[in-house]
Amino acid sequence: MNKIYNPAASERLELLKRPTSTVNDIEETVNKVFAEVIQDGDAAIEKYTEIFDGFKPENIRISSMEIDDARNRVSQELKDAIHLAYANIEKFHAAQKTEKVTVETAEGVQCWQEKRPIQKVGLYIPGGTAPLFSTILMLAIPATIAGCKEIVLCTPPNKEGSVHPAILYTAHLCGVTKIFKVGGIQAIAGMTFGTQTIPKVYKIFGPGNQFVTVAKQLATKHNVAIDMPAGPSELLVMADESANAAFVASDLLSQAEHGADSQVILISTSEKFMDEVEKEIESQIKLLPRKEIAEKAIENSKLIFVEDKETALEIINEYGPEHFIVCTTSNNFYVDNVENAGSVFIGNYTPESAGDYASGTNHTLPTNGYAKQYSGVNLDGFMKSMTFQKISEEGIKNIGPAIELMAEAEGLQAHKNAVSLRLKELG
Ligand code: NAD
Repeated sequence: MNKIYNPAASERLELLKRPTSTVNDIEETVNKVFAEVIQDGDAAIEKYTEIFDGFKPENIRISSMEIDDARNRVSQELKDAIHLAYANIEKFHAAQKTEKVTVETAEGVQCWQEKRPIQKVGLYIPGGTAPLFSTILMLAIPATIAGCKEIVLCTPPNKEGSVHPAILYTAHLCGVTKIFKVGGIQAIAGMTFGTQTIPKVYKIFGPGNQFVTVAKQLATKHNVAIDMPAGPSELLVMADESANAAFVASDLLSQAEHGADSQVILISTSEKFMDEVEKEIESQIKLLPRKEIAEKAIENSKLIFVEDKETALEIINEYGPEHFIVCTTSNNFYVDNVENAGSVFIGNYTPESAGDYASGTNHTLPTNGYAKQYSGVNLDGFMKSMTFQKISEEGIKNIGPAIELMAEAEGLQAHKNAVSLRLKELG
């Protein structure tokens, strides 16, 4: 792992660069797939599934027989674990419901704000290198609580053309019925434009690799909203000698095993602790089934020593990690002052894996520094805030003259007239 000691402020930008390709690298491919899906619909989806996933599909929609089969192939232990995670995620997201906000801004002028579900949503469930059935819980549960009417799910098939049974089991548990074995750029294209088989949606949610993330970003040019750019996973751990080196190494590896393009960073105020973590990583990585992926990610990763907590905080806020673990004697300092992070994990017994699966918080989070301006997925993401107003005769008399003056000053006579006519009628 790269070890860096007391990086100067001028070096930080380069130091904290993500190992991801830029939009430009992938944009050309995405535009080509989008254009073909607009023109040829399912035929283009099938063509690119064959090219990128190595499988030529006959039917991209998952049948009820495939769901029944999947239900029998998931062990009872795993089903119980999924149910426990379901219950916690549902509790946390149901609690995010907010009340209608009503205010009488002036006498006779009633304004209120209410939330309504987005009617049609698309969920992308990654499946390239690992079947992320946990992501279904993270997206379908809030979509259902919000009341979204149509939920479409796309996930890539493996080379034999099947989808992992735990994905189908979890989708069924969450009440999702429109499931398509389509992944990558072609899945995002299908949900953005609609095809003969895949319904068009209004908003697309879910993480994915760089192809998926860039496709989602470009889809926003075509009248579709997205949750956020949620690309290759990242973790930043801030730890000192009060932390457990083996725990910290296991946390760093848990994100490194996601993909070769994942990035993990440890910042510490103790050189000794940093060396201990490095040794732990070297011994733990050998035993991982996804060792090769984790090793590549570790090449992109860094151990950074800084003298004091103020400098550490500056670096954390500059980086804006997707996941931020803090295990120090000054946890409150970091928790109170962190400005940019997707999700924060505090103390020795709060592994990031807990948030990935079962504690209740959402694991679909902004990566690549987007934690500076985006929130992770939450209930509000599946809803729109709509405002309403009702003005009485007294109300229009109260605010009408101000509206007339402002409209006149902006040169918008018709706006002024809409008020003047009413005031005139009221005498
Ligand atoms: P994926 O489903 O995102 O991508 C697989 C698809 O990529 C394939 O179906 C294929 O169509 C497409 N693809 C592969 N190579 C291609 C190429 N050369 N050109 C065009 N398309 C190509 O699955 P994955 O690859 O396993 O990636 C999952 C990602 O999700 C990981 O990077 C992981 O870190 C990330 N993740 C992020 C979060 C988050 O909240 N940010 C959460 C979980 C996972």
